[in-house]
Amino acid sequence: MPNYDYILAGGGAAGLSLAYQLTCVEGEKPSILILDLDNKRKNDRTWCFWTNAATGLEEVYYRTWKQMWFYGEGFEKKIPLGDWQYVMLRGIDFYDWMRAHFARCGGVDFVQAEVVRIEDDPLQPRVHTRDGNVYAAKWVFDSRVLPGSVQVDRKRYHLLQQHFLGWEVETEKQAFDAEALTLFDFRTPQHGVMRFMYVLPFSPQRALVEYTLFSENLLPQSEYETALKEYLASVVGVERYRVLDVEQNRIPMTDYPFPRRLGERVWAIGTLGGRVKPSSGYAFWRIWQDARQMADSLRRYGDPTHVHLSPRRYRWFDQVMLNVMYRQGHQTKRAFTALFRNNPPQRIFGFLNEANPWWEDILVLASLPLPPFLGAFLRTQILRKI
Ligand SMILES: Cc1cc2nc3c(=O)[nH]c(=O)nc-3n(C[C@H](O)[C@H](O)[C@H](O)COP(=O)(O)OP(=O)(O)OC[C@H]3O[C@@H](n4cnc5c(N)ncnc54)[C@H](O)[C@@H]3O)c2cc1C
Repeated sequence: MPNYDYILAGGGAAGLSLAYQLTCVEGEKPSILILDLDNKRKNDRTWCFWTNAATGLEEVYYRTWKQMWFYGEGFEKKIPLGDWQYVMLRGIDFYDWMRAHFARCGGVDFVQAEVVRIEDDPLQPRVHTRDGNVYAAKWVFDSRVLPGSVQVDRKRYHLLQQHFLGWEVETEKQAFDAEALTLFDFRTPQHGVMRFMYVLPFSPQRALVEYTLFSENLLPQSEYETALKEYLASVVGVERYRVLDVEQNRIPMTDYPFPRRLGERVWAIGTLGGRVKPSSGYAFWRIWQDARQMADSLRRYGDPTHVHLSPRRYRWFDQVMLNVMYRQGHQTKRAFTALFRNNPPQRIFGFLNEANPWWEDILVLASLPLPPFLGAFLRTQILRKI
């Protein structure tokens, strides 16, 4: 039976990030196996996050923006991001970069296979694949997740989806402000749930335009397409364009406390380890930081347990926000408008990154409309209901 130091069941953002952090460290040469269903040779997604510091990912930045547009209820503004930037990576660049890194460092095997079972053991957990192979390791990290596969007890926890259809379009005439992304454009009918357009402009004639919803249920395919067509025609003002690429998926948004420990020597990482921020659906930056902390913990303590947990105040805010989206989706446009009207983006980014001093967080909370948030607070924190 092939034997490794670490096995990563799932080699997406989380599996690759952790393998990256464990390799090319002076004086160490761990053996690592990455098992994934997919060969990771196509551009299956774009990842974005915001930062005001070096990240170690600069080599794979595809685009960065220093300004953003916000279009809300009676408020629209092009907002400078100060010392922050909004960063976009392409999945394929990240996968290729990882492959090059592993080839340089050595010690990493990649096998394309479906993991069907992980057998826990206090010394040597084993991973079984569909083709009948069994691999052993000292530690196994599980990040196997497929769209729609996250299930939670819906009576106890919120489970919304961030679902979207994005078209990368090339227009005949100049239509986009390439200097500034559009983080939220609420100039699209809400129909009682949070819906907005998200635009990543690459040039005045090329952009990724994404119709995004935070809600419980998906839409029929034609509704996403109609919304995009209407937005391009009536808001962007273009009738003639080519769709170069399509991005569609869903991200689970839940307050379910995903267990990190799945066995004596089996740990959950990525989406499966609860790394998706429940109220925003952003995960990439959290996954990257988690991988750093986990690799450090393995080095210093010989186990992966010493990782950062979300401070309590952010966990309850996530619950309250999910509840507002779940029960009062029609209020979200107003709430996000208040958020961006009353706070500099740096404060909002710090809040969403769970890295603000507490008094900045109080200012964020004080800027939100009271009735929906107070109602959601009472419901989730006092009555313990969803
Ligand atoms: C289209 C899209 C865009 C997103 N954009 C952003 C963004 O802009 N910013 C952000 O912060 N987050 C974003 N996210 C959310 C989040 O960052 C990603 O979902 C991220 O990839 C999660 O990392 P992960 O490792 O948990 O899952 P994945 O990256 O999906 O990796 C899971 C891996 O497990 C593999 N797998 C599944 N089942 C098995 C099995 N049985 N055996 C072997 N392998 C298996 C899959 O093939 C996959 O490679 C986006 C998500 C999607 C889907």
